Amino acid sequence: MIDKDCLFCKILRGEIPCAKIYETAAVLAFLDIAPIRPGHALVIPKVHAPSLWELPADIGGDLVAALQVVGRAVREATGATGINVVMNNGASAGQLVLHAHFHVIPRVEGDGLSPWQGAPYADTMAMTRMAESIRIRI
Ligand code: 5GP
Ligand code: ZN
Repeated sequence: MIDKDCLFCKILRGEIPCAKIYETAAVLAFLDIAPIRPGHALVIPKVHAPSLWELPADIGGDLVAALQVVGRAVREATGATGINVVMNNGASAGQLVLHAHFHVIPRVEGDGLSPWQGAPYADTMAMTRMAESIRIRI
């Protein structure tokens, strides 16, 4: 349930302080110590799970509910007009802390934090093959 060496578990146990925003029986939200923009918050489950795949699926409702509450409050407090909810899974995706968490990042038009650029598939067949390759693994 809790990992003794995990940074976010230490925050959950109160061994490391945090700027707490919101808490329920299942979820804790606090400010990121190195925000992409002021108000950048983290929403974490109270159960230790290194990434998305170890999370108990039935915690999804609690996490979504918390993201809605925290996302709205961050938006209002910062004057943001949009919010990115981001979850990094794996080092190649930028995950540094191996306790599953969601970033809540306030956004305004022209803030320079444009998301990555999309590019179309070579053709419809390439897209169809990719969809099939994913579908057969579900
Ligand atoms: P990741 O890269 O794993 O998706 O995000 C981890 C986040 O945790 C980073 O944005 C980082 O700034 C934040 N972080 C790292 N250590 C601490 C800490 O001790 N306290 C808080 N509040 N945030 C932290
Ligand atoms: Zn943990």
